[in-house]
Amino acid sequence: MAIVDILEYPHPVLRQKSEIVTQFDDGLTSLIVDMFDTMDSMKGIGLAAPQVGVLQQIIIISFESQSFELINPKILEFSGKRDIQEEGCLSMPEVHVDVVRHNTIKVRAQKRDGKSIEFESDGMIARIIQHEVDHLDGILITDKGLPK
Ligand SMILES: [Zn+2]
Repeated sequence: MAIVDILEYPHPVLRQKSEIVTQFDDGLTSLIVDMFDTMDSMKGIGLAAPQVGVLQQIIIISFESQSFELINPKILEFSGKRDIQEEGCLSMPEVHVDVVRHNTIKVRAQKRDGKSIEFESDGMIARIIQHEVDHLDGILITDKGLPK
């Protein structure tokens, strides 16, 4: 268990695309544990592996009573209305921008043991997943932010 450094914009790693995870081993589990420790220490609600310098398709979410990781997440469908909400990012500490996101998404991903899952998500959790999946493509909130 360890708290690791979070890379901040304009670190170039934040602009790179992450690789698919193929090894579901102890190294993956300890990375996920470190990511949770780091995110919790910052009182974050989501974190993507590139933010800790690891270009692998791993995101974690912790919002209200739900805490989970998604490995190789893919958003299969966007639906529902779109809404606008202000977002921040642990890699951009002073920045807050309004971002349009879909309210409902269908997601396929894997758990840390490699097991595949598919589920629908809406509201805040769906927003966090969309934000974190963007990180895996090197996309940051300032790319999507609406002018104030
Ligand atoms: Zn972020």
